[in-house]
Amino acid sequence: MQLTIHRGTREIGGSCVELQSGNTRLIIDVGLPLVDQDREPFNRNALRGKELPELVEEGIVPRVAGLFTPGEPPDAILLSHSHLDHVGLLHLTPETIPVYASTGTSKMMNAGAMFSGQQRLPRERHVKLASGTPEAIGNFTVTPYVVDHSCYGSMAFLVEAEGKRLLYSGDLRMHGRKPGMIKSLIADVGPLRVDALIMEGTHFGSIGRQKKTEYELEFELTDLIRSAPGLVLGSFSPIDVDRLVSYLKATMRNDRTFVVDAYAAYVLHLVKSEIGVPDPTDPKAPVRVYFNEAFQRKGITKLQEMFAPNRIDRDEILSRPKEHAMVFRPSMLKLDFDGDLPTGSRCLYSFWQGYLDRPDWTELKRHLADVNGDFVPAHTSGHIFMDDLINFVQSINPKQVIPIHTFEPEAYQQHFENVRQLKDGEPIEV
Ligand SMILES: [Zn+2]
Repeated sequence: MQLTIHRGTREIGGSCVELQSGNTRLIIDVGLPLVDQDREPFNRNALRGKELPELVEEGIVPRVAGLFTPGEPPDAILLSHSHLDHVGLLHLTPETIPVYASTGTSKMMNAGAMFSGQQRLPRERHVKLASGTPEAIGNFTVTPYVVDHSCYGSMAFLVEAEGKRLLYSGDLRMHGRKPGMIKSLIADVGPLRVDALIMEGTHFGSIGRQKKTEYELEFELTDLIRSAPGLVLGSFSPIDVDRLVSYLKATMRNDRTFVVDAYAAYVLHLVKSEIGVPDPTDPKAPVRVYFNEAFQRKGITKLQEMFAPNRIDRDEILSRPKEHAMVFRPSMLKLDFDGDLPTGSRCLYSFWQGYLDRPDWTELKRHLADVNGDFVPAHTSGHIFMDDLINFVQSINPKQVIPIHTFEPEAYQQHFENVRQLKDGEPIEV
């Protein structure tokens, strides 16, 4: 089978991989870049008002025949998870191509479309993948495996054709809430001796720095909420359901009320039957729902009705700030609190440190200092740490390791003997 990494051989973001066997062509991920050609953060507005040929010309969209440039359309698109650097170009692909993804991915895309201007996975294009169940697509057999990542519903893919096997890691980690997921992937795929492993390497370059697990973070959050002198504000991505659960548990352990926004409430509602989290539509659920200003302005009355039984308003939170921990985003400082947070508020920041220079966060930090509050980063990565990565690759024991989703593809050779470093758009025979 032929493999082409159209984008991602030497950058984090914009992942797009093609596999061909005979007449069958599969595309894995259709990601939006995270950086531009100067490695500055990619501005999503760069897509606006531009036609596809222009985007291809500018190098924002990769040259993939039948997908983004003229030609016969590929037979299928597989999505590993709903982060934009894996799905962000889906709306530019021909609607006739079916999209294979987990139900989790479709749900998180649906929630992202409702709350953060992202795109939905159209129901008529979606073919549901179930972990461990092989799917025949033309000459290929694809077996998806759920993996742990900072995004609900993430999958790795084992792809087989012509007696060859390839494993695409997607984004994954071993220090999440469910380390058993990756162990069963290793147990299933390790003995097969795959011909190639396309391996994410987000953490190459941060060698030897093994950091905390999601469980350790949960206990850190528990301590930080316990010692908080006032209202606790938790900032994290709601589609990172593991993190949402960490906050929920840490809050409940302190006998505070966990207040979610409508986005997080909707995510909990979508995944409740799959993982047994509280459903905010249930009047007995141990969470309350705050309709922040930005949400109220959207006027989604259906969701307002769904979560009405657990609704909490700002005055109730402000009357007893020490009894609550609430989901927070910096825009709420002005919109919901008139630029004035209660005395002693503590903001817990659970994103990548790289966003911290943005004006909305710096303004929030300044304001918290003014009200005798504080701002505390509390985070762990959604990506596999170096030590785990080395163990994972050794356990899979592939004939070739192919770097992807990394700024340091050369560094793979320091750890593995059988590295095949590709260039974007370079086809090879596996
Ligand atoms: Zn991701």
